[in-house]
Amino acid sequence: MSSRSLGPTLIAVGFGIIVIPFLVMFVLAIGPLGWALLGGAVIVLGIVVSLRESTGYGDVNRTNRTNCDDCGARIDADADTCEYCGAAR
Ligand SMILES: [Zn+2]
Repeated sequence: MSSRSLGPTLIAVGFGIIVIPFLVMFVLAIGPLGWALLGGAVIVLGIVVSLRESTGYGDVNRTNRTNCDDCGARIDADADTCEYCGAAR
């Protein structure tokens, strides 16, 4: 079993040996301002993602929804029939 997982491990280690110096060079090259920009980009990304998520929840909340009297599923409050069980409302 160890001989099976050794190959991928060695490949990963090899990639690490190749990539790590480039990462170190990148870290040293971008400097404090680069890190600030990188952090700012991640923060902006997080804000955009959370805004999109909250907008999605807002859409659900804005739509007037109610529970079906028959099956209890969430359906539009102004729907004539339940979209899940077809019961007339
Ligand atoms: Zn229903």
